[in-house]
Formats: sequence, structure tokens, C-alpha cells
Amino acid sequence: MSSPGTADNPLRVAIIGSGPSGFYAADALLKNKDGIIVEVDMFERLLTPFGLVRGGVAPDHQKIKNVTKLYDRTAGHENFRFYGNVEFGTDITHAEMTDRYHQIVYAVGAQTDKQLGIPGEDLAGSHAATEFVAWYNGHPDYRHLTFDLSHETAIVIGNGNVAMDVTRILASSPEELAKTDIADYALEALRESKVKRIVMLGRRGIAQAAFTNPELKEFGELEEAQVIVSEEDVMLDPLSTNYLTDSGDRSAEKNVSMLQDYYEIPHDPDKPKAIVMRFLVSPTKFEGDGKVEQVEIVHNELYLNDRGTLRPRATETFETIDAGIVFRSIGYRGVPLPGVPFFDKWGIIPNVDGRVTDTHEGEFVPGDYAVGWIKRGPSGIIGTNKPDSIETVKNMLEDLAEGGHYNPTQTTRAAVEDLLNERNVRFITFADWQKIDEIEVAKGEEAGRPRVKFTDPAEMMALLESSEAQPSGD
Ligand code: NAP
Repeated sequence: MSSPGTADNPLRVAIIGSGPSGFYAADALLKNKDGIIVEVDMFERLLTPFGLVRGGVAPDHQKIKNVTKLYDRTAGHENFRFYGNVEFGTDITHAEMTDRYHQIVYAVGAQTDKQLGIPGEDLAGSHAATEFVAWYNGHPDYRHLTFDLSHETAIVIGNGNVAMDVTRILASSPEELAKTDIADYALEALRESKVKRIVMLGRRGIAQAAFTNPELKEFGELEEAQVIVSEEDVMLDPLSTNYLTDSGDRSAEKNVSMLQDYYEIPHDPDKPKAIVMRFLVSPTKFEGDGKVEQVEIVHNELYLNDRGTLRPRATETFETIDAGIVFRSIGYRGVPLPGVPFFDKWGIIPNVDGRVTDTHEGEFVPGDYAVGWIKRGPSGIIGTNKPDSIETVKNMLEDLAEGGHYNPTQTTRAAVEDLLNERNVRFITFADWQKIDEIEVAKGEEAGRPRVKFTDPAEMMALLESSEAQPSGD
């Protein structure tokens, strides 16, 4: 039998997950230049699409969210279908997928957080930054969480861009937040926040910080907060000076000079909040009576490891900081999917350039592919996913001639929809999402905000059902 990809026998692809990497994969498949006819069905666990663009990107970074206009265009392709509210492994299993699709692309991202592995990490008041981010962005699974913001000091561990987002949201004024699409309940909770001092702990020095220049610049533009950094931290050690000279790392250079400028700025008594940026420190334990009250930290020094990287090493100097809440922001981690290989050590689906393997460095699983964070780990910005997905799609299409696909027996869309209907899974189409989107944006316009998000799936479902029940007006 000839390879799928013809008008009579289109290549049927299921994409699991509707974040940027999933949409870039869909786009590359539908626009392929090899003349291969592809039908893409995208499955999403939530009722709403766009993954971290909706649930991760900070609410005050609206411009970044405009990228969804490109995804809307992909979704408008006649061979694209969206099935929201469908959970892979529960509502439809891997085996059921392989009987309905030639190829499957996992685009599920990295849904949990890394652990520090220190005493007290599980005390009340110690939170994964990822949970706080999902909460303030209105992710339905996290909307019921509560954060105790009654203490003046909050600690953020790590200094990647997620840590910067969390710190900036904590340091923003209610007026600044009210202009964004932050979830309403989060806006209310942050309005009542007593947090005045946010201490960020970076384990390495200023020249090795993981944040990028625009995020550091934004700290200086906040209405109510000023950046505090110590003289000791802004003085470069010889190893870092050599690194900057030898590497030509312009972003690190800019970070260093911006931090040195922040150090020079005199204290502004009119700004009630402080972002205290600490470097070369690591938390060693969280302590308190049933909840976090203190964080013990150790001072670090840098050393050059055998791979030529500057790494942190603990010294004998310890310090204790009083704080009421801690956000651990040391990176995301993927979670396994039922019936799909997983490499626990790296928290990813094992793969070579997107081709899934049964184990790390094992055999290929023909028909299974990965894109985005579940393929390469949690790094890079939204745009990084475009070339990443293009690479996987190129391999998918190349593999067709070699039999790199499943041999499904039920290759119509009706076969998928019948299965979901039999299971009483009320799937969300892209048109359904567009109705939700329209209402969110309209509510936002009334309030002078980009949108007012629905966060309760039952409310979204009721809205869709009531709009279905309305007479069409013809
Ligand atoms: P990240 O950039 O990898 O940062 C992780 C941070 O945690 C680093 O500061 C790291 O320090 C620190 N860390 C790791 N293990 C630690 C430990 N055991 N103890 C103390 N500190 C530890 O990760 P992320 O912030 O979660 O961001 C994920 C990706 O999304 C990044 O590529 C980021 O740029 C991107 N992102 C972009 C934006 C944006 O464009 N605005 C916003 C959010 C996220 P070391 O550097 O020493 O390892």
C-alpha cells in the first residue's frame, strides 16, 4: 500500500496539546511543500487553547500574547480540527489513537516543577512558582489555590524569567495589575497583599543570571518598587570578568551593567516596595512552626568545572531571612503520558530530533513524535518552538516513505467524534473557543482590560450550552 498523504488517503495526524509547539507543528504539517495532504486533529485537556500563552505568559506581557493571531490562522485551515476538553489517556487512549491516526505528536509541555530537595520544602507557604503563575493566569486546575500574602517578605528562589515574572507581579501596584488580563480573584488577593520586600535568590553571580535584559529593565519601571542590589554582588569576581571578556555574551554584559546602574540609584522614599536581588546564595532549609517563617541560605563561591562552566559551590557562611512565603522557581519538568515512553532523569519523552524512542538512546517508536518542552526540556522562548517543531515535522514526513507511521483502520473524523460522543465527552471545537474568546474580550473592553478571563470550566460550558440553545434568528 502507498504511503498516506494523498487526497484519497490523507495523512491523519493527532497533536496532543495546543500550546505554541503544537500550533507550530500543525502549521508546518498543513503547509508542507512536499504535496502531502495532511489532516490535523489537535487535542487539548482544557477547554481553552494556547497552553502557556494563556496560562504561563505574564498578564502584563500582552504583546507576547499577540502570537495567538498566527495560531488562529492555522486553526482556520480547512484540514484542521480542535478538540478541547479531551484528555489523552483518559478520554482517548494511546491504542485508540493509533487505530485512528497515522502519526501522533506530543506537544504537552512540562507541567510540573523541579524540587530543591532541602528540609522544609513541603511546609505550608512554600510554593512552586509554576503554581502561582498558573493561579494568577486563571488556569482552572489552580484557581482554588490560596497564597498567604500577609507577611512583608516573600522569597523567590532562582532568577530565570519565571522568577522575574513572579517577582514583578508581587511588586506591581494594583493599578498596574488592573490593566492586565490577570484572573479577577488574583487581582483581589494581590490588592490585599502586605508583601513589601521580595528577595530573589540567585545561586550564581550577576554575570551568570538566567534572566534576560528586558525583564531586568522592567523592574526599574515599576510604579511602587525599587531594585536593591548590594555593592558586594555588583563587583565582578575575576572568573566572571574573564568569562565576559572571553565569551562575548552581550546579554550577560548588559545584565551586569544594568545591575551596576541599579546599585547607583539612590533610595527612593516614595516607593514602598523593594525587589532585593541577591546573588551567590542558595537556600539550605525552610523552617517554621507548621509554615515557612525563615529561610536559611548559604553563601556560594564560583568555580570553573571540567566542562568550562562557572558553577556555584557552598561556603561555610550561612544567614537566615525571615519570610512568610517562598516561591521555588528553579525550572519546569515534564510528566509522563499513559502509554508513551518517558525518560524520568530529564523529565522528557525520549527522542532523537523529535522521533520518539522506547527508552533513552533506545529504538524508534514508528509513528510517535515530540515537540517543544516535552521534546527538549523547559528552555527557550515561544519563538524557539517554531524551528523545533519544523525539525520534527520534517522528520515525520521523511519517515512516511520508510513506513514510519501507524496503520489505523478508522481514518475518518467521524470515527473520533463517535468515540468521544459514546463516552459523553463534550468536546470543544475551535468555534466554541472563539465564542468564549469573544465574550472575554468584550468584558475586557468594558473594564479597560485586554480581556476578563473565564476560569471556571463549568461556567464556560454553561455559556456554550446557553448560546447553542438560543434561536439562530433566521
Ligand atoms: P530557567 O531560565 O532555566 O531558570 C531556572 C533558574 O533556577 C536559574 O536561575 C537556575 O540557576 C535556578 N536553579 C536551578 N536549580 C537550582 C537549585 N537547585 N537551586 C537554586 N537555583 C536553582 O527556567 P524558568 O525561569 O523556569 O524559565 C523556563 C524558560 O522559559 C526559560 O527559557 C525562560 O527564558 C522562558 N521564559 C521566558 C519568558 C519571557 O520571554 N518573558 C518568561 C518566562 C519564561 P542556574 O542558572 O545557576 O542553573
